Amino acid sequence: MKRILENIEPCYVFRYFEDLTRIPRGSGNEDMVCEYLIKFAKDHEFTYYKDDMKNVLINVPATPGYENHPVIILQAHTDMVCEKNEETIHDFTKDPIKIEIEGDKVIAKETTLGADDGMGIALAMALATDPEAAHPALEIVCTSDEERGMSGVEFFDASVLKGRTLINLDADDEGVFVVGCAGGPVIRTEIPVVWENVTDEFIPLQIKIAGLKGGHSGEDIHRGRGNSNILLNRILRRIESAMHYYISEVSGGLQYNAIPREAEATIFVPNKNLEEVLKIVNEMTAIFKNEYYLIEDDMKISVEKVVAVSRRVLSKESQKRFMNFITFSECGITRMNLQLDGVVESSVSVGVVRTEADKLIVMTMTRSSMKSMYMEMYYKIVKLAQEVKGKIQILNNCPEWEFNPKSEVKQLFEKTYEEIFDKKPKVTVLHAGLECGIFAKKIPEYVDMIAVGPDIRDLHTPGEYVFISSVQKFYKFFKEVFKRL
Ligand SMILES: [Zn+2]
Repeated sequence: MKRILENIEPCYVFRYFEDLTRIPRGSGNEDMVCEYLIKFAKDHEFTYYKDDMKNVLINVPATPGYENHPVIILQAHTDMVCEKNEETIHDFTKDPIKIEIEGDKVIAKETTLGADDGMGIALAMALATDPEAAHPALEIVCTSDEERGMSGVEFFDASVLKGRTLINLDADDEGVFVVGCAGGPVIRTEIPVVWENVTDEFIPLQIKIAGLKGGHSGEDIHRGRGNSNILLNRILRRIESAMHYYISEVSGGLQYNAIPREAEATIFVPNKNLEEVLKIVNEMTAIFKNEYYLIEDDMKISVEKVVAVSRRVLSKESQKRFMNFITFSECGITRMNLQLDGVVESSVSVGVVRTEADKLIVMTMTRSSMKSMYMEMYYKIVKLAQEVKGKIQILNNCPEWEFNPKSEVKQLFEKTYEEIFDKKPKVTVLHAGLECGIFAKKIPEYVDMIAVGPDIRDLHTPGEYVFISSVQKFYKFFKEVFKRL
């Protein structure tokens, strides 16, 4: 197979990266990439270790002169998100990723590229073998299954690591240093409900909200996008203030970690009030269009008569519980980071709402880089659930990586960057989870950490790409900073 990235500098980085694009490595399917890494270790006489969850640790000795420097942990994940365009034929368990060079980009037009985080693995391999690179002893930790919930790093035995400085290569903005990340529980609240049958004077209507922008419930939370679950609740509350009505079915949002884009409810309203309901929905639509006029230009709210399969509705008490739970749920940014300008510290999102056989389910995701802050959000949900006789369950609990303003590695990275490029880097705390949070929890002593990487765009979607010039700039910095570690 002809190499496409052969003549692109830095050649070590792009050679390993191109190798990785040819290895199928969707989450859970990391055997081949493990073999590749083990062969790499053997070829260079590095010792290695692979565990049962397909994490691979490669020990790289220090280059001459760095034997007495403290060991550095370099970390990236081997798995990638496998997404393709609908019409594209691509088998992610067998086929190599089709890559192209387009101007300054290396891109996979029909599928995900896997630069997240193949670029991280390639950068670590390049540093370990580039004859021009100098560095202390390295512990390269290649984790598996990051994209599906970080089960690889969760399983990894961190007690084998000697390093107490960790450089994570899963960030995707050149010139931006990530120095913390958010954690927090995902909470599933189950509200028990009682059903009854509604009389013939009530007719079924369906109210639908669609076309909202949605996005990542952490990284996009500051964009002020509409949450369909909350907007639907506001419409229902407005109807409630005007008449007796019944809720038969509600559903909104597909994933707890995304801002919900759509929501719908089937309700029963008195026949005589039909016109009034239509008026209320129009009124609320106008209010929302006004509130979100710069952001949600595709918002569609509809109301129409439907043929109901069943006349089963929530009892008045059940309906009240549900309406109160959503009305009093916090949703959106709860606090900005006090040290870093424009960075969200804490937020919460009501991601999923749906009626089931004998219950209502609500899934709420809390996020904060401060444990006490997400615990506060958690306790509020617990109290609110108690008020509506609900039961809660923690679905996922990602640990935070709390920002340490005195971090030495942060200071060294900032100083080095400024010296090379005569420009200040941006320092930020990610409002999403990173494997660093789990490392911070796993290693009992303090580990000084930073997450960095070149510019990767459109991650997790077909058309993902990496800017070649940003890899060049990043690698130049990367090699220099290792000389100073
Ligand atoms: Zn990643």
